[in-house]
Amino acid sequence: MRKKVIAANWKMNKNRGEAESYVNDFLPLLGDINAVDLEIIICPPFTCLNTLHVALQKSCVKTGAQNLFWETSGAFTGEISVPMLTDCGCSHVIVGHSERRHILDESDHNINRKVKSSLAGALIPILCVGETLQERQNDLARQVVKEQLEKALFEVDFTAGNLIVAYEPVWAIGTGINASPDDAQDMIAFIREQLAQSYNHELAAATPILYGGSVKASNMHDFILKADIDGALVGSASLDPREFSEIVRSVKNA
Ligand code: PEP
Repeated sequence: MRKKVIAANWKMNKNRGEAESYVNDFLPLLGDINAVDLEIIICPPFTCLNTLHVALQKSCVKTGAQNLFWETSGAFTGEISVPMLTDCGCSHVIVGHSERRHILDESDHNINRKVKSSLAGALIPILCVGETLQERQNDLARQVVKEQLEKALFEVDFTAGNLIVAYEPVWAIGTGINASPDDAQDMIAFIREQLAQSYNHELAAATPILYGGSVKASNMHDFILKADIDGALVGSASLDPREFSEIVRSVKNA
């Protein structure tokens, strides 16, 4: 059975002090939830990574980064490599988030390099794919997601559990308008089918695929009941420890 995964994307929010006080509030709210039940990952800005890792050390919550550079070291001003991230305690990294694709012009080719580099460095990529509103309205959603997946995973080898995919329709991110659970299930089943065709059924069945886009405590339950949805990548609602803990609990109780 696939493990459920809940990942928080703090984006460009919170400083070190705020990260520490978040952990102080969040951990007691988890109660008896542990790593056997589900995987919880928090992805703060780079500047909070080590602080968060230290604060979470005795808990089941893992830390992830929001981006990486594919080379390991050298003259790449402003970039952060996989060994630097693992040195800060990271186990996961978000790759290809739509804000990076659309605001920072991140290309499919570079996303592919980042997936390869994170896997080579034993960092689990959370690979984001998803269509824009215009693409959905033009009935191109499946084609766009298929192409993003193929390009990101070009010549990529991975094994069960060391890659997570997140389906994040761009129009649902940060808008308060979530995809319907049926539409999310439909696309996530399609993604699983694509993985089965490119790799094999066992690997596709063992790969966690998350939904992301305006998830909150009040709608998580409807997503997690769907057969192929293994959890969520949560932006805004993860910034509040109580709201995020309720999302986690609703996954555990499903
Ligand atoms: C995200 O940034 O990955 C995201 C899903 O954001 P939000 O939950 O705010 O829509």
